[in-house]
Amino acid sequence: MAIEGDAITKHDWTQWLAGRAEDGLIRRLKVADSPQGPRMRIDGEQRLVFCSNDYLGLADDPRLAEAMHRGIDDYGVGAGAAHLINGHFTPHQRLEEELAEWLGVDAARLFSTGYMANLGVVGALVGRGDTVLADRLNHASLVDAAQLSGARLSRYRHGDMADLERRLAAARGERLILTDGVFSMDGDIAPLAELVELAERFDAWLVVDEAHAFGVLGHQGRGSFEAVGIVPGERVLRVGTLGKAFGTAGAFVAGAAQPLEVLLQRARTYLFTTAQPPAVAEASRAALSVVREEDWRRRRLRALIRAFREGAASLSGLETMPSSTPIQPLRVGDSDRALFLAERLAQRGLMVPAIRPPTVPRGSARLRITLSAVHDDADLAQLLDALASLPAGG
Ligand code: PMP
Repeated sequence: MAIEGDAITKHDWTQWLAGRAEDGLIRRLKVADSPQGPRMRIDGEQRLVFCSNDYLGLADDPRLAEAMHRGIDDYGVGAGAAHLINGHFTPHQRLEEELAEWLGVDAARLFSTGYMANLGVVGALVGRGDTVLADRLNHASLVDAAQLSGARLSRYRHGDMADLERRLAAARGERLILTDGVFSMDGDIAPLAELVELAERFDAWLVVDEAHAFGVLGHQGRGSFEAVGIVPGERVLRVGTLGKAFGTAGAFVAGAAQPLEVLLQRARTYLFTTAQPPAVAEASRAALSVVREEDWRRRRLRALIRAFREGAASLSGLETMPSSTPIQPLRVGDSDRALFLAERLAQRGLMVPAIRPPTVPRGSARLRITLSAVHDDADLAQLLDALASLPAGG
């Protein structure tokens, strides 16, 4: 039973769930019983983990934990209200200022999650009569953001700037280009120089989701713009998440003063939600100083990426993809086979997810390996060994 695009009649969930199970597409929760890190206890089993977004290994860092404890002592556990009522605490304010200073922009605005930041920024800047031009491989939250905004959604082929240019020329109303900085399922980096040039030529906003880039790429972890040596202009807004390389939770939008003021006035996911606990913001402030200062974590990541790619180049039936980031997918193609391989890896104590449609295009199922600065050489050797031992076909 094909699921994608299926019309679901109102009371047909039993059949839908059964069809989903039949197609091997049922998702199951696994319960972790230890902190995030390379070695975790999951569903009662020890696992060597290659699937988190904790790229710098900060989710269990004692300095962040200490900052969060201090935040609880000073401010309690909950914000109790939205930012614009009385839920905006000193740690939120300081974190926003420190993020802006780090990135060299006028301002940053905190959101409770990256998903909400994306919904907020797009919906605040464009609406009915406008056009959002979005890369086809953008993260789901960006697709939803465009749809919810009411603007026309025009999706260009992945990384295809000629296609984007044609669509920009045909677009109506305000134009907003929307892209991942690092693509979450592929690990490649958006063509930022061309995107900036097109945005300027067509007087468009450019919103770049740096969820997988901040902390990881560029000097002091300032993301993909810095990695390619581009200074973003006034019409560029960058979204960052704090639940990935920063190891905490929440997100922010950073950019020029005026659009950030517009966000404060109009972003519905900012206005109508409880602010994140101030203690979390305290932990994120501690994370930011580690992100800025401990460049060895990025150097370690780069060394691991290089070693992984060298080791994986000779694997048969598993194709590396053109990624220079900690997201290192191995293309398998067939969904059932990807699932089968992930299960074989699980039997050897490894946690590597099979990513299948609709998360990725049909026929491009893959094992999505993510590396963290706190993986050691033995962890990587164990991964490469396990991959090499996978059966070649069937
Ligand atoms: N953007 C991208 C590219 C992501 O990968 C994710 C999370 N997987 C998000 C946004 C959402 O961020 P958050 O988890 O903070 O909601």
